Amino acid sequence: DVIRPILRYGAGVLHAPAEVVPAVTPDVQQLIDDMVQTMYAATGIGLAATQVGIPQRIFVVDVSGGRKAADLLVFVNPEFVERDGMQLEEEGCLSVPGFNATVARPSKVLLSGLDRDGQEQTIEASGLLARAFQHEMDHLDGTLFVDRLRGLQKDIVARRIKKLSRAGKW
Ligand code: ZN
Repeated sequence: DVIRPILRYGAGVLHAPAEVVPAVTPDVQQLIDDMVQTMYAATGIGLAATQVGIPQRIFVVDVSGGRKAADLLVFVNPEFVERDGMQLEEEGCLSVPGFNATVARPSKVLLSGLDRDGQEQTIEASGLLARAFQHEMDHLDGTLFVDRLRGLQKDIVARRIKKLSRAGKW
């Protein structure tokens, strides 16, 4: 497996909707395995294909950060069946390093899609896992968590990223 570079806020592919995956081929499975290694190497709990420059509807999540094998979840062409409630927690993103902010998310979700073997799966999630699913689904729609901030908070993040870019530090 290959650890792939993670793109940062500002890269075009992060800001556009990803495409439906026509079939879970060996190439798709290789990409998934690379994404898992890349997520663990970056000590993240989730990674979307768009973050490694591939505009396809695939994400991986592991809220245990690799400590529990059963916590590794792979979704291809995921769709929400249900979303309910509201939670407010601090969030970050491997594509927006150094920034954290409180984002409102549903507290419970039901997500269905294909797994790494192309089999249908539906998973019920609450708390952190529900948040991770929502965060990664946003990536597949070209939305980053900082896009969900409002007003002054959003302006501050945008300004700091612009400043870092100008200084060649982004
Ligand atoms: Zn992210």
